Amino acid sequence: MEVETPVALVTGASRGIGRAIALELGRRGYIVIVNYAGNQILAEEVVTQIANEGGQAEAVHCDVSQKEAVENLFKNLKEKYGRIDVLVNNAGITRDTLLLRMKENQWDEVLATNLKSNYLTIKEAAAMMIRKKKGVIINIASVVGITGNIGQLNYSAAKAGVIGMTKTAAKELAGRGIRVNAVAPGFIKTDMTDKIPEGIKEDMIHSIPLGRMGQGEDIAKAVAFLVSDDASYITGQVLKVDGGMVM
Ligand code: NAP
Repeated sequence: MEVETPVALVTGASRGIGRAIALELGRRGYIVIVNYAGNQILAEEVVTQIANEGGQAEAVHCDVSQKEAVENLFKNLKEKYGRIDVLVNNAGITRDTLLLRMKENQWDEVLATNLKSNYLTIKEAAAMMIRKKKGVIINIASVVGITGNIGQLNYSAAKAGVIGMTKTAAKELAGRGIRVNAVAPGFIKTDMTDKIPEGIKEDMIHSIPLGRMGQGEDIAKAVAFLVSDDASYITGQVLKVDGGMVM
């Protein structure tokens, strides 16, 4: 069975940037699969908000760092919807600490959730998209994958990996009608950045030419553009959405 409405999967869509992306894609007519790891109630709230705005969505639990869980997620998607048109790899975590204090598990968890997950989901999604010769994949990277950042050896390595993976996947899949791009957010107001001490936050805001933190919606609008046919000649790119932080 294949539904007529296009389907978009957004990983880590219960909160923050992923939530904003899910809401935006819901407004643009996709059936949105709102993936979460632990926060089912928040994910259901996103689904309700999409429905209240006239869209369609479903909350789906999956730890995207786990191969079997990702394979099951796509198996179920295939059975229920028969298609996937858009994949947004957004799920991410931080385990910040200085290099000399970084424990192996802090390295492993960040690499598994922020990088290996993208390999697992892209492989599954691309196999479905190839059959239709059409699809768009967006990977949420970070400007620190370009610049590096003190205390984020694990995270910056994962995000640099995401950028490399984006370019290789773009090259391998272009001939199959699939575009792959990355969005690199700067400093965006979410639970992830709420943990940062106030003083450091203020210094960071001073380093942003546009003089403010970004909102999830700023990233969601960029993702919606890259997903749309207006971006049909754009693949393998990294779009920084950071108020001019990194030029
Ligand atoms: P956030 O508010 O902490 O939300 C993280 C989301 O990822 C949640 O929905 C969480 O689900 C989900 N998640 C975590 N581990 C998961 C797993 N193993 N499987 C499935 N979902 C999982 O983070 P955010 O700030 O919105 O960040 C979203 C993305 O943007 C991340 O990739 C992050 O690295 C990137 N980014 C953020 C910033 C920023 O300034 N905020 C800057 C650059 C890049 P639960 O709610 O179920 O736990």
